[in-house]
Formats: sequence, structure tokens, C-alpha cells
Amino acid sequence: MPDNMKPTHTAASPQNAHVSEAEARDVAEQARETEWTHPSFVRELFLGRFRAELIHPHPMEDAAEAARAKPFLDQLSAFLDTYDADETDRTGNIKESDVQQLRDMGAMGIKIPKEYGGLGLSQMTYVKAMELVTSKCGSLVALLSASQSIGVPQPLKLFGTEEQKKKYFPRIAKGAITAFALTEVHAGSDPATMTTSAVLSEDGKHWVINGEKLWCTNGTRAELFVVMARTPDKIVNGKARKQITAFIVDSKTPGFEVKMRCHFMGLKAIENGWLSFKDVKVPIEDVLWAEGKGLKLALTTLNTGRLTIPASVVGGAKALLKSVRAWAMERVQWGQPIGKHEAVAQKLARMASSTFAMESVALLTTSLYEKGGYDIRLEAAIAKLWNTEAAWKGVDDALQIRGGRGYETADSLRARGEKPIPVERMMRDSRINLIFEGSSEIMRLFIAREAVDAHFSIAFPIVAPESSFSTRIKALIKATPFYVTWYPARWIPSFKTYGDFGKLAGHMRFVDGTTRKLGRSLFHAMVRFGPKLERKQMVLFRAVDIGAELFAMAASCSRAVMLASKLNQPEAIQLADAFCVEARGRIEALFKSLYGPHDEQLYKLAMGVLKGEYAWLEEGIAWESYYGESSVQSLPSSVRKPAVVSSELTTAG
Ligand SMILES: Cc1cc2nc3c(=O)[nH]c(=O)nc-3n(C[C@H](O)[C@H](O)[C@H](O)COP(=O)(O)OP(=O)(O)OC[C@H]3O[C@@H](n4cnc5c(N)ncnc54)[C@H](O)[C@@H]3O)c2cc1C
Repeated sequence: MPDNMKPTHTAASPQNAHVSEAEARDVAEQARETEWTHPSFVRELFLGRFRAELIHPHPMEDAAEAARAKPFLDQLSAFLDTYDADETDRTGNIKESDVQQLRDMGAMGIKIPKEYGGLGLSQMTYVKAMELVTSKCGSLVALLSASQSIGVPQPLKLFGTEEQKKKYFPRIAKGAITAFALTEVHAGSDPATMTTSAVLSEDGKHWVINGEKLWCTNGTRAELFVVMARTPDKIVNGKARKQITAFIVDSKTPGFEVKMRCHFMGLKAIENGWLSFKDVKVPIEDVLWAEGKGLKLALTTLNTGRLTIPASVVGGAKALLKSVRAWAMERVQWGQPIGKHEAVAQKLARMASSTFAMESVALLTTSLYEKGGYDIRLEAAIAKLWNTEAAWKGVDDALQIRGGRGYETADSLRARGEKPIPVERMMRDSRINLIFEGSSEIMRLFIAREAVDAHFSIAFPIVAPESSFSTRIKALIKATPFYVTWYPARWIPSFKTYGDFGKLAGHMRFVDGTTRKLGRSLFHAMVRFGPKLERKQMVLFRAVDIGAELFAMAASCSRAVMLASKLNQPEAIQLADAFCVEARGRIEALFKSLYGPHDEQLYKLAMGVLKGEYAWLEEGIAWESYYGESSVQSLPSSVRKPAVVSSELTTAG
């Protein structure tokens, strides 16, 4: 291994990186946005209140914005018609001439205001552009979206000063690629373990950054980075508080180095780097927002950034649906087009109805963001979680429908004279969506944290065993006015008929009634498990999944009604209906196992697995001589009990 590729053990050593669970929670809680000054449909939903008026009628497309966006989207579409995504995948490289074409059409600064040289288009146009690109090439969308969803322009727009905007926006609008660097070798989902540091120079004019960043998308090609680093602790109430600060760093700054380009299962042309910072001097003017605000900045950036993936996976789902529809008619086996065999037909129906639901979720969430006045943190997290998981099921179904051709590469298909449908590449490219910009587990943790927040903050001291009698009484007095009205109301059925939903009215009544049930179930879970609920990830995750399905149902019904009544697309009703029928089945199954009758058994078994009690199961394989023996002989104390839920864990791009 060349010297520059060895971990330096300054930033990335496990010893430095270890932080206690309490410290990790403290860092995450500090960064949590606790205020809910605007309504949130999903937050209400977890409180058992179905506020249909917050999402219905489904927002219509903004015609003026669509007209403004058309020339750009047409140009992008024409570019994609000639762009060779298989070549990009094969060579692992996006040609500079392709990137230049994108620059020339303004694709690097879609949302940058016109006054700074950008296209000045909306978030909705931006996500539509990303959907279009994803339908053709995952690596290309990674380049564009890492640069604009989480890279410099997004936090700059949200938190930058006028000077910073004037300095950086025009450069990015002209085509400077940007990146977001949070993850480190030992800091993945848990930012508290971050060791990259920044200290103020003696003259107070610069911050000096030292450390390493891992898996930074665009890292090997970017000119500008948002870099998160630890700055000196602050003393708050006599206790040292970890501080994380965000910096804009130019790749030309001495001391910045790309140690290695990382390679992955898919996204073969993603320009992803392992980066090193050695005494990198950043002018104090390039701090974003303020010292200590870095993690909050990252979380807030990701709230909007997370709107991209849910929309972009819709592009992939549509491309897959289009290709398998043709194939399921064309391919005849056992005397019938395979699409007419019931098992394949079911997959097709699911792909179509879930593509409709995914698009409804993505459009609704982006529309709520665009409308303003809504808090879309939870909606964006659900959209990211639900859409990526639905898209993954879709790509699996598509591959199965294509049979052996699904597993064959596009180049091989082409060489045999068949249509080079790239399902194999699309599967490789889409798996990462469940991991980056908040893994599915971290999304569920984040949503669960907020879902139980109202109860924990009001009623937690009543059920906490460590609460003294007087604390309990005080908490009870405080909680009573809320629960006296809230709890009985969760039992009273809604009298709303949802008549304007026509055939879908029954589904809306189900969503309404089930929302009440979800609200009271979460309350019951708190009473049942008390403070232990914090560690009951599986119970909370099932509740999150119920909420996500309810959100997808409501979004689909509302959009279907709009499409049928305003845009003359009555078939949308069938799609929403089929989706809702399936979602109801999943919700019922989740409620049945909500309290996890087997959770403890499985947890115990997993601890046994970790301790190596079943290591004999792993015998008879070729592994150790090459990869080495499993090094964990005993369980660290931190894995003896389940991790808590109550922290807003972040995660990088
Ligand atoms: C292709 C690619 C591109 C990326 N681009 C960027 C980028 O541009 N910028 C950047 O900063 N980062 C980037 N990342 C990093 C990415 O965001 C991380 O991979 C992600 O945050 C998860 O961190 P990790 O892989 O270290 O997993 P870990 O945090 O080690 O987690 C491993 C597994 O444990 C689960 N897990 C962790 N904690 C908990 C918990 N408390 N409860 C339940 N389950 C838990 C996780 O969900 C995951 O399944 C990229 C990664 C890849 C692979």
C-alpha cells in the first residue's frame, strides 16, 4: 500500500474515535431541530390525527415554472438521448465532454438564483431533472445531485452570507463541481465519532483543518467542498460540549489531497474519494453559518437534499416498468406472453401501482416544501425511506421478469444482438439508495424519535421508574389537560365520509381510522414499555412503517383524485386503489406484530451470534485463509443492551 493510502491514525484511529453512547446522543440532540413552528402532516399522523387538509387537494403543477423549465429540461432530455450510460458504466468515467455539455446548459446550477448566474429554477424542476437523469444513468445523477443537493450551493443558499454567495454561486453556476464531506472511517451514521478537527490560527484569520474524510461523492473531481470538522468544545452548564463546524474548502488549498478514489458495486463512474486534510488553512470568512452549527447545517441541508433521492428513484422505476411491460408481452413461454402468467402479472401490477405511489409521495413532499409554511422534515425522511425501499423491490421484480436477461449485462445483450436493457446495471446502481443520505435504519430512528417525542416530553416522567412520587404527580398534572382530550378522541371514529374521493373514499376512511389507532398504539407502547421503549427499535420501526404506508396511501389517493378530475386520467384511480389494497394488508400485518412477540428471542439469539456461540454454522467455507479470522472474541459493553432510539442521528451524503 503506498504511504499516502495508509490510515494516518490522527483522524481515523479507533481509539480517538470512541465516544460513549451518551456523548453520541448529546451531539445528535444538540443538532436536532426541536421547534415545530409549521404544521407537519406526518408529525400529526403519529399523534393519531389525520389532517387531510394539509395535503389535499393534491397540488397542481405550477404552469409558469413548468414553462420556465421547459427549455432546460428539453435540452437535458436531448443530451440524454445521445449519452451512452453503458460506456460510462464500462469505463468507470463520465467523459469531460459530457460534463462540459451539462455545464453549458446550466445543469450545475439549476437552483442557483439567476442574479448569481444560475438557472434560478425551482426545487420541483430540479428533482424532475434528477428523475430524468436517473432514468438513464445512476453515476451521472450522483455527480449532479451530490454537487447540488448536498454540496456547496444548498447550504450556501440556506446559511451563506451575501459575500459568500457572491463569491461562490457564480463559480458553481458556471460549472464548478462541489461535494459534501461528513463521513469518516469511524464516523458513519454517528457523527459524534468525527475526528477531523479545525483549530483557529494564532492570528485568528484562518481555521486549520486536519483529518480525513471517506466516501466523498465528487471528491476526486470537485473544486469546492463543504467540510465538517470538530472545533474546540464549548462549556455549556459546566459541561464540555462537542462542536462541529462547516467550512467551504477549495480543493486547490495546500494540504488538501485525494488519497484514493473508492470503487463500488454499482455507480461505477461515481467520483468518490477518500480525502486527506493536512494543515489546510481556511479563511474565517469561509465558515458556513457559524462555529458549532455544522451538524445542524448538515441535517438541515439533508432535509431538502433528501427530496432528491425519492424523486430520482421514480425515474428508475418508470424506466424499469417501461422495459418489462414490453418484455412481458414480447416473451412467450409455455404458450403465453409471460405477462399473462399470474405470478408475472402480479409483479407487473405491483410495479405499476408502487411507481404511482412513489411518484405521489415524491411530488407531494416536494410540493409541500415549495408551498412553504410546512415542516417537511418527517415527510422528506419518509419519502427517502419508503421510496428507496419500494424502488428496490421494483428493481428486483423487474430483474425477475427479465429472467436471465435481467442478470446479463447490457454489453453482453448487445453483443448477442438483443436489446441492451440495463436492468443488471440499474440493480447495482440502486442498492446504495438505501444506505447513503440516511440509511433506512437511521431514517426510521429519526422518524421514531419525532413520533414519540410528544409523548416522551409530556408523559415520560409519569412512567419512568426512576421518577420520584412528586415528579410523577407534577408530570401527571401537566399531562392531564392534553391526554384528557387527546386520548378519548383517538377512540372516537371519524364521521368524515371522504365522498369527494369516490372509489377511494374507503381507503381514506381506513387511513383516518388507522391514524387514530397508530396514535393510541404509540401511547400504549409507551405505557407498556416505559423508558425501555427508547431501546425497542423494532416496535418503533413497525410503527414508523405503518406511518409511512399511511402517508403513501394518502398521497396516492389525493393525487389520483386530482389526476382523474382535473387531468382526465381516470386510470390513476385503479393504480391508487390497487396500491391501497396492498398497503392495507401490510399495515394489518404490522399491527399484528407491533409489540414484537419474537423480538426478545431474536435479540438474544443475535447476541449469541455476536459472541460466536453459533460459529460452527460458519464451518466448511473458504474464508479465513484469505480474509482472516473473525477478530471479535467478546462483546464490547456497548452491545450488551440495545441502542437507544432517542437521538436524531445524522448521516452523510
Ligand atoms: C457510494 C457512496 C457515496 C457516499 N457519498 C457520501 C458523500 O458524498 N458525503 C459523505 O459525507 N458521505 C458519503 N457516503 C457515506 C454514507 O453516507 C454512509 O455510508 C452512511 O452514512 C452510513 O454510514 P456507514 O456506511 O459508516 O454505516 P454505519 O454507520 O457503520 O452503519 C452500518 C449499518 O448499521 C446500521 N446502523 C448504524 N447505527 C444504527 C443504529 N443506531 N440503529 C440501527 N441501525 C444502525 C446502519 O443503518 C447500517 O445498516 C457515501 C457512501 C457511499 C457508499
